[in-house]
Amino acid sequence: MQAEQLVKELKSILGEDKILHEKLDLLSYSYDSSFKARNNRYVPDVVVTPTSTEEVSKVMRLAYEHGIPVTPRGAGTGETCGALAVNGGIVMDLATWDTIEEVDVENMQVHVRPGVVHAELNKHLAQYGLFFPPDPGSSAMCTVGGMVANNSSGLRAVKYGTTEQYVLGLEVVLPNGEVITTGGVNSRAIKNVSGMNLTKLFVGSEGILGVITKIRLRLWPKPKARGILMAIYDDLEAAPKTVLDVYKAGILPSGIEILDSSAIKAVNEFKPEINLPDAEAILLFELDGNPASVEWEGKEVSRLAKQRAAKVEWSTDPKRMAELWQGRAVTASAAARVRADGSRIFAGEDISIPLNKVTESLRRIKEIGKKYGIGVVNYGHIGDGNVHTAPVINPEDPAEVDKANKLIDEIHRTAIELGGSTTGEHGVGAVRSQYARLEHGAALDVMFTIKKALDPKGIMNPGKLLPEEGNNHAASASTGS
Ligand SMILES: Cc1cc2nc3c(=O)[nH]c(=O)nc-3n(C[C@H](O)[C@H](O)[C@H](O)COP(=O)(O)OP(=O)(O)OC[C@H]3O[C@@H](n4cnc5c(N)ncnc54)[C@H](O)[C@@H]3O)c2cc1C
Repeated sequence: MQAEQLVKELKSILGEDKILHEKLDLLSYSYDSSFKARNNRYVPDVVVTPTSTEEVSKVMRLAYEHGIPVTPRGAGTGETCGALAVNGGIVMDLATWDTIEEVDVENMQVHVRPGVVHAELNKHLAQYGLFFPPDPGSSAMCTVGGMVANNSSGLRAVKYGTTEQYVLGLEVVLPNGEVITTGGVNSRAIKNVSGMNLTKLFVGSEGILGVITKIRLRLWPKPKARGILMAIYDDLEAAPKTVLDVYKAGILPSGIEILDSSAIKAVNEFKPEINLPDAEAILLFELDGNPASVEWEGKEVSRLAKQRAAKVEWSTDPKRMAELWQGRAVTASAAARVRADGSRIFAGEDISIPLNKVTESLRRIKEIGKKYGIGVVNYGHIGDGNVHTAPVINPEDPAEVDKANKLIDEIHRTAIELGGSTTGEHGVGAVRSQYARLEHGAALDVMFTIKKALDPKGIMNPGKLLPEEGNNHAASASTGS
């Protein structure tokens, strides 16, 4: 179908107001936060902004009939080109559909439409003393739909887990326009083991199996107290040993973060007033719960940390906690400033490593950086092994870009070799699918089978999550624009 005809048909389904097709509008949908998107423009043929299940279904029926690719999009904060129309076609922007339909306090759950922004949801839930625990760094921008599609999490995943643990059910529009509800059509149950777990199939499927149009989320009571402990290490190897000591003592902190020497240096250069000590590593523990248990656990973690760290400080005073956390809070921004002529790139940024290999991974990443002459700032969630690496390059210099691509490839392969994964939070999108066979082996063929069963024409977010080898049927835009 020609682009003009497609726009005309979409207007007849959704009305003029929900279609964007001017060049400038389309350009603003051609990026996300990934390095790949910085160097490539993936401009869709048309953008639609539906705000009802019916509208989504009608668009999908049209796309299915004509074999036109559809890419769902939330806030576009992803770091993998996931929400970009790499094969052209329709981008379906769900960010404007941001209704909190019901807070069912008695059943500890909330029902939302996909465009609700994570931070806004938790602000709304605070009045009930409840919260949705996953906490991505992009909380103020990202949508709950994007979080479900990416199975997002954050530094508190160590205690609270990832988005998947909270999704009780979903409404999904399948590629052919059919609408299903997972987790029980009328269910408000928190526990449910009837039928296959289709909810889990869609969570983390990155928009390649259908469009998520409604989400039923489990809520948790908000903890009443919080404390922060900072431990400073002259020896990098000692830091993960403290983490293990804490677990062995039966304590589960809500966050355990590490800054290695590269991150400490970056923070001090960015904000000298923070003045972090010159050390091999800094650990930050966050403890939450009821006031008495937080006090007890804080004292116990202090005692354990002192056995290995050069200096330890624990506080429950809000002002001091913010000061202790400051270095971690600015690490990502600091990484972006370590070179006047360069910037941090979001690539190879999200490896997940077994706990007992985190130190080795940090040392190896340093070596890989040296090999290519590229500075890499390392920090992350040491409590669950999710290491964030921030290569800093001049993205305008093709020779540096070439070296960076090799460095990123080695970082991803190192993660797999150490028994980890290429991504702990940000997903695969169009930037990591080449590692799928290496990571998943024969299980990848089952993924292809599921994809083909639900999306035989390959129109749903083609070019993402699955590698080309089984993706030959993927649709590309046939709009002739
Ligand atoms: C500064 C910064 C910090 C970040 N920190 C974290 C972090 O701590 N943890 C973390 O996990 N991620 C993090 N991210 C990555 C990103 O913010 C998350 O993956 C986020 O959940 C994406 O939400 P979004 O609304 O922006 O989705 P988008 O980027 O728009 O889309 C992401 C993927 O979801 C699909 N999708 C979106 N909505 C739907 C839907 N309704 N139905 C089907 N598919 C859909 C898209 O097709 C795409 O594949 C960070 C990003 C930035 C820029």
